[in-house]
Amino acid sequence: MGESKKYVHLALEMGAENAKIVSVQDLVFDPRTLLKCMYGCEDWGKRWSCPSAPKALMPWDAEKILRRYSRGIIVQAHDAERLQEIAYMIELEAFYDGYPLAFALAECYLCETCTFPAPCIFPTKARPSMQALGIDVFATVKKLGLPINTLRSKDETPNYYGLVLLE
Ligand code: SF4
Repeated sequence: MGESKKYVHLALEMGAENAKIVSVQDLVFDPRTLLKCMYGCEDWGKRWSCPSAPKALMPWDAEKILRRYSRGIIVQAHDAERLQEIAYMIELEAFYDGYPLAFALAECYLCETCTFPAPCIFPTKARPSMQALGIDVFATVKKLGLPINTLRSKDETPNYYGLVLLE
């Protein structure tokens, strides 16, 4: 558990609003996230990191895989690109610290416009978001006592969340 605190500090140093150690048992899985991807997202069919990509992992299959982990770090940021950098950096540090299966979940913003359907430019760095793999982010975050709310206007400050599964 001590080492996990190091990743919390790393996240905060890199500009996260919040970072917290979580048990995978506290994650809320719900395959209905796919409905919001398919019928509520303008990026459907346009990104490699989304469930619309060919052979993408579906939420009901992803849950079985993600439940093999026991804990991770959840990270909140107001900027989605920053969040991705933080999550990826934690994954990398954890990998070198002896967590070979460490895996970051944070929406991919590495390219201004995803190259889909042309091949992904950074396939070793692109990761799916929490919701793309069937995690109900709102329910999970509320359960953990972290801030989140639906936005009525683009002027409101968004809260983005990512997760790095450690072991
Ligand atoms: S790295 Fe670029 S091409 Fe690959 S998924 Fe991310 S945005 Fe798309």
